[in-house]
Amino acid sequence: MQIKRLRISGFKSFVDPADLVIEPGLTGVVGPNGCGKSNLLEALRWTMGENSARSMRGAGMEDVIFAGTASRPPRDFAEVAILAERDGEETEIVRRIERGAGSAYRIDGRDVRARDVALLFADAATGAHSPALVSQNRIGVVIAAKPAERRAMLEEAAGIAGLHVRRRDAEVR
Ligand code: ATP
Ligand code: MG
Repeated sequence: MQIKRLRISGFKSFVDPADLVIEPGLTGVVGPNGCGKSNLLEALRWTMGENSARSMRGAGMEDVIFAGTASRPPRDFAEVAILAERDGEETEIVRRIERGAGSAYRIDGRDVRARDVALLFADAATGAHSPALVSQNRIGVVIAAKPAERRAMLEEAAGIAGLHVRRRDAEVR
């Protein structure tokens, strides 16, 4: 799976809509401290289904919504869209959060469950907890991971994490 484009609106410091084209190959994000580099990676991870507010550096999930500045009022919602290409086909994954209403997900315009988005990325061997996404200060965590945690990372990288999600689904029914 290749992520080709990222559209961000109202997410953290991205108050004005941002539309980023991600070219094939290595992408670097550079800029001064506090300009939003980590927020950009968090927007990607959040859309893939990250549900830990703490790992988004907030107290609650609504903290990802633009909180306002001295000169600009806060926003009521945040929305991030990932345009991905897989086997030559384009898919758009959207996550939106509204104050007081929680999160909603869409795949190609259809309302879906968080689980559907998790499965889509798990099958593509990426996702919110993919070892491919290493946030600031997390490199040490990967190095110091316990064997079981490292196994989970390898399984995710090998593309079999989706099978475990489905097995858990089957077990609870
Ligand atoms: P560094 O180089 O220090 O790692 P960075 O480029 O990674 O910096 P970020 O951590 O992505 O910077 O961005 C931090 C900025 O985002 C801060 O100015 C912070 O106020 C702003 N920010 C975070 N959450 C929100 C929010 N909900 N509303 C408005 N601004 C926010
Ligand atoms: Mg940072």
